[in-house]
Amino acid sequence: MTLLPTLLDPSDRPALRAGEDALTHAELACVADALSERIRATGAKRIAVHAVPGIHTAVAVASAVLAGVPAVPVNPRLGERELAHVLGDSGPGAVLAAPGADLPGGLADLPRIDVELGSTGGGAPPRDPGPAAPALVVYTSGTTGPPKGAVLSRGAVAANLDALADAWSWTGDDVLVHALPLFHVHGLVLGVLGPLRRGGALHHLPALDAAALAAAVDDGATMVFGVPTQYHRLADQLGPDPDAARRIGRARLLVSGSAALTAVDHARLRAATGLAVRERYGLTESLILTAARADEEPEPGTVGRPLAGTEVRLDPVEGDPELGTVHARGPGLFDGYLGRDGGIGADGWFATGDIGRWTESGALALVGRQATDLIKSGGYKIGAGEIENALLEHAGVAEAAVFGVADDDLGERVVAVVVAAGPPPAERELIDHVAAQLAPHKRPREVRFVDALPRNDMGKVLKARLREG
Ligand code: ATP
Repeated sequence: MTLLPTLLDPSDRPALRAGEDALTHAELACVADALSERIRATGAKRIAVHAVPGIHTAVAVASAVLAGVPAVPVNPRLGERELAHVLGDSGPGAVLAAPGADLPGGLADLPRIDVELGSTGGGAPPRDPGPAAPALVVYTSGTTGPPKGAVLSRGAVAANLDALADAWSWTGDDVLVHALPLFHVHGLVLGVLGPLRRGGALHHLPALDAAALAAAVDDGATMVFGVPTQYHRLADQLGPDPDAARRIGRARLLVSGSAALTAVDHARLRAATGLAVRERYGLTESLILTAARADEEPEPGTVGRPLAGTEVRLDPVEGDPELGTVHARGPGLFDGYLGRDGGIGADGWFATGDIGRWTESGALALVGRQATDLIKSGGYKIGAGEIENALLEHAGVAEAAVFGVADDDLGERVVAVVVAAGPPPAERELIDHVAAQLAPHKRPREVRFVDALPRNDMGKVLKARLREG
């Protein structure tokens, strides 16, 4: 098993493009060869990558894969304390960075290898430590606790990318376009290693705006990856720009993940482009578990079915016979957290911490995370996602986040935080709207209006921060 066969037998076809920078597979192989020699010469057990958006990060990670040294992608926007935590925890022996990039303290103290796109030389035989060896240590963003380094083996990454290729009929002829951060599984594993493993190309954009995306599709992009916030903004832009919408509609596949795409945005994008967005679901620790297939009509509000080779099981949640906690088993699971306990159970199953239910067609619908999105109110268990979706169906609501706060009477009471679309609707009107759509006990007891929801780099709503007020 070779994770990136294209580095060993490269073609002259485009591989990577971002702004003015572009490399063919043959050029990438040449640069990676030179850099991999330097990486190995450091003797580092792990190597940090200053994961700025753009081609240098992709080249750095490909070079580390060729060198057989696990890469630790580091979010360039981490605060001092977060960075110290990640570096202390992972102990990289050196850092790969774009020439001229200003490195924050901590990273700047490490021996540095500049990712020169013109590097040549080497010719050293590639070192493939085999499928069980780690390819990456990826830090979770820490929305539910301190960031932990998930150790992902070369075999897990390869198996997951191959299962996605099956789900999305993903080949070397595909050109993927995205504007995702490159320190996270979504942008890096799916978004960089995905196209490279297939022998296809990645076109990385600074932002997923309508004009740039339409131009990228004109230029041959066939697939788009994004997070829901990006698609939400794109849908806003496409309404008044039917020309861009029509051009983007010539792409083959739009895929959304990392958080829930609302049914409203799914419908808006479909109306504008004619394309039905496919959702997929996964975690840093498990890679992708379920996906809506390219060759099937997607069911909006679901994240599709388990990938080939992956098993997903729902364990009952007390108080609601339909809901279950999501457990998964399969070849894409991580090996555990670097230097920490926890991870996969002895039986091979991983508890994701998410809550979901199966739809009649066998797709998984997610309700939210057990820790933050399952509200225990008046003896019921209520999924926040369901209430958020009901709120979003109201024309006066642009964004919504729902959570539980301690309540003497109910245990927890449902609170909704809303970004209004235009003049804010009356609180009572929104509460009645939810009560009419869902069972009355699911109605918010309180609606707060804000100008914007706090989100992390992946567009996930930071509910802990909202709850703090
Ligand atoms: P932490 O685990 O520390 O909070 P994180 O949020 O970055 O960090 P990830 O592994 O990136 O962790 O996120 C995985 C979570 O994202 C899943 O458990 C799930 O709750 C959510 N998620 C991923 N894809 C989807 C999707 N398509 N729809 C809804 N939620 C999703």
